[in-house]
Amino acid sequence: MISTKTIGIIGGGQLGQMMAISAIYMGHKVITLDPASDCPSSRVSEVIAAPYDDVDALRQLADRCDVLTYEFENVDADGLDAVIKDGQLPQGTELLRISQNRIFEKDFLSNKAQVTVAPYKVVTSSLDLEDIDLSKNYVLKTATGGYDGHGQKVITSAEDLEEANALANSAECVLEEFVNFDLEISVIVSGNGKDVTVFPVQENIHRNNILSKTIVPARISDRLADRAKAIAVKIAEQLNLSGTLCVEMFATADDIIVNEIAPRPHNSGHYSIEACDFSQFDTHILGVLGAPLPAINLHEPAVMLNVLGQHVEAAERYVTENPSAHLHMYGKLEAKHNRKMGHVTLFSNEPDNVVEFGKGIDF
Ligand code: AMP
Repeated sequence: MISTKTIGIIGGGQLGQMMAISAIYMGHKVITLDPASDCPSSRVSEVIAAPYDDVDALRQLADRCDVLTYEFENVDADGLDAVIKDGQLPQGTELLRISQNRIFEKDFLSNKAQVTVAPYKVVTSSLDLEDIDLSKNYVLKTATGGYDGHGQKVITSAEDLEEANALANSAECVLEEFVNFDLEISVIVSGNGKDVTVFPVQENIHRNNILSKTIVPARISDRLADRAKAIAVKIAEQLNLSGTLCVEMFATADDIIVNEIAPRPHNSGHYSIEACDFSQFDTHILGVLGAPLPAINLHEPAVMLNVLGQHVEAAERYVTENPSAHLHMYGKLEAKHNRKMGHVTLFSNEPDNVVEFGKGIDF
């Protein structure tokens, strides 16, 4: 008999909400920690409304739950270590520390998992930028706190150095060589501490550094797709992964280069809810519970479009005109510009004909 567990989720945004939905239909109970009592997860779970670094609230969550997980990587790892009991956070806090800091992440990816990353060096001040070879292009990224392109400076000529020097003097950074990629791709992989299961390769199109469209399967050769999946599995095995992880990569004509990892379900894996026989949220819940993991099959080629604050009306119109498209709305109360409000998934063999919301209008 499958026993019912109480699962504590740190973070009640759309990722936490979709994790909770998976957990609930498997018969589990969910308690969410989120600063906002009306967060998206409040529609499907009890919420402890408190800041993420409130150790008393974390302890209350830990005391009331069998298993804990998180929906985002910037959780206070020390705070969690102080309250969790042995084995209560199957993903562990080490993975959090790796994905919170690009210096640790690059070191893990290149030296421990031994996968290909863009050539890089750690930059602790502008002095480290003095002797760079400007015949190449680079991206300077702050080690912590950056997301969706924030805390980054592309360097293509000496003129970019003033801003780059200022960034390098404001925080520890990583300087990466610029990758002339053909496509940005990602692979979702889930583990249960022993075995892993891997999803199809996703092709990702960003606008203003925000994911706009995901196409599955990615339009790369079978050889590169197999390599991308093997890389994701290698990383997961090196981590003894529990739960879902997303590996973001660049595909060039003949190689796959890992950009970064996210230790949780990812926006680029949302299509799996309808397009695969198990979603990335299902395998996340199965994985953190240490349950056996299914092999993943893609039913049909699919496209996912993000619905940002400025796209809500267009998305509602779209599904009225295309009733076979699946609209997900996360229940956020305010449709702010660029805020992720929902997404649409549809089956299509002609992804170029599926037009992103707002393309050419609102970006
Ligand atoms: P990140 O925050 O690392 O995900 O970077 C945000 C976006 O910047 C990526 O989705 C890429 O489009 C671009 N980018 C990041 N690193 C590189 C790189 N080394 N070469 C080329 N583009 C990059």
